[in-house]
Amino acid sequence: MLSADFGHLADDIRMINRSEAEWLHVDVMDGVFVPNISFGFPVMEVLKKECTKPLDVHLMITHPERYVERFADAGAWSIGFHSEAVEDPMPVIELIRKKGCRTCLTVNPDISLDRLLPYLAEVDMVLLMSVFAGYGGQRFIEETYERLRMVRRVIDENGLKTLIEIDGGVNTGNAKQLWDAGADVLVAGSAVFKAKNPEKEIIRLKCLD
Ligand code: ZN
Repeated sequence: MLSADFGHLADDIRMINRSEAEWLHVDVMDGVFVPNISFGFPVMEVLKKECTKPLDVHLMITHPERYVERFADAGAWSIGFHSEAVEDPMPVIELIRKKGCRTCLTVNPDISLDRLLPYLAEVDMVLLMSVFAGYGGQRFIEETYERLRMVRRVIDENGLKTLIEIDGGVNTGNAKQLWDAGADVLVAGSAVFKAKNPEKEIIRLKCLD
């Protein structure tokens, strides 16, 4: 929803509600962990009120542990945070779980998968950034495929149910390849909101037609 038109947020949310999108991905930026600031709790309240799909909150912030509770109370269904933003992800994962939300651990494209792989069994989902966290509209980083296949292999070898989410630069030109490489969840921002027909674009991204 980072790429939504904030002047017509309710319209964009209604489109999401009607569409084949399964979740609404909510990028939260603090101006410290990433250079940009996106939005805070007042916008979360609007999303919670208007959106009929689960809110998949992606915290691009330092000290995620300070905000987990408030995002959970504000209606987050899933809460993800960056492994490189904390010393030890485990206490944050436990905090999210305690609040009854689904847990997601994320890494930027330049962060070693060693920061992710040890926690695969502890979280519901891992998010591989396919651009650098911080702003929408960036070009997809091709090395993502290799990282995706690697994580897929470890999950399958260990019989885990952990989902893999890909976020950044996803469009109809790479969606099929990402599904084929083992992605479970694709996040699309600009590709959807800049499309002439966003609902159709979502169907194309899901490779349903
Ligand atoms: Zn995101």
